[in-house]
Amino acid sequence: MKPAPFEYHRPGTSAEAADLLHRLGDDVKVIAGGQSLLPIMNMRLAEPAHLVDVSALPELRRTVTTAEGATYGAATTHMMFEHELVPDVTNGLLSHAAAGIGYRTIRNRGTVGGSLAHSDSSAEWPTVMSALGATVHAVSVRGERRIPVPEFLLGFFSTALDADELISAVTVPRIAAGTRWGMYKMARKPGEFAESLAVVQLRDTEGDGPAAAVWLGAARDVPVRLERVEEAIANAPASGLSPADLTDPLAADIAADTTTASPHAGHALQLHAVTVHRALAAAERAPHAA
Ligand SMILES: Cc1cc2nc3c(=O)[nH]c(=O)nc-3n(C[C@H](O)[C@H](O)[C@H](O)COP(=O)(O)OP(=O)(O)OC[C@H]3O[C@@H](n4cnc5c(N)ncnc54)[C@H](O)[C@@H]3O)c2cc1C
Repeated sequence: MKPAPFEYHRPGTSAEAADLLHRLGDDVKVIAGGQSLLPIMNMRLAEPAHLVDVSALPELRRTVTTAEGATYGAATTHMMFEHELVPDVTNGLLSHAAAGIGYRTIRNRGTVGGSLAHSDSSAEWPTVMSALGATVHAVSVRGERRIPVPEFLLGFFSTALDADELISAVTVPRIAAGTRWGMYKMARKPGEFAESLAVVQLRDTEGDGPAAAVWLGAARDVPVRLERVEEAIANAPASGLSPADLTDPLAADIAADTTTASPHAGHALQLHAVTVHRALAAAERAPHAA
């Protein structure tokens, strides 16, 4: 199928884009890489009368690096992260995550801002950016506001973005020295969305074992921090645990807000436990951030 007719706008600055979004009202969509929006429009699940293309806006393709981290323009493509055409302040996590997204053509056009705005919990960026403590910059005619990613992602295809706001950038804090990370994506085959997606960060502490931060995607409508799992793995190397040891704390972590019980829930829980266990083992093998 082909999309319904629409008017195409290509502003020259983010201020012009914000002005267009404000003036055109409810019947307008931002388009960046088009890798999620165009299939939806082709199926006529969305029929916006206007598209505002932000993919070539210079401000949205810029990276600013500081001692604290980096601010990546929203139109930075997955491919640019994958090949480190932008600086990676996370000791390789951004590059690793990007390389696992879809296929080559999707990574060439799809953008970090588009992925966050789409808010699919099975996608890489929502979970990875939540785990990294990243912040979304949202721009409108009223100015800019900054929203931590976990507060930005409200549910499946639902974010804190107002109808006339666009994402201009995402700020990622520099990964702390001494941190190791591991990520594992469980998918039916390469190029598909995750059935389960875990990011584990281990930070060395004095005396006690490493402190763990564990995030899981594709389990609920938004990425979840697994605090009970973090307690369960404290001072317990992956080699001393089996995935089965993680299912109870995992169930408690993801059941807290689970609203649907599926006949496949047991299988899904095992899948997530294996994914977290593999991410933990990968983190233990990883080099420490300098
Ligand atoms: C076959 C296939 C496989 C895929 N596999 C994966 C995968 O394994 N992992 C994964 O993470 N993703 C996957 N994707 C999704 C892909 O990564 C998309 O590129 C991404 O989700 C959306 O980015 P985009 O730039 O293409 O956004 P678009 O498709 O242009 O837009 C998506 C949504 O975001 C909004 N939007 C875009 N940019 C902005 C902005 N700057 N401000 C405000 N709103 C904005 C649009 O209005 C729209 O609602 C896959 C897609 C396909 C088609």
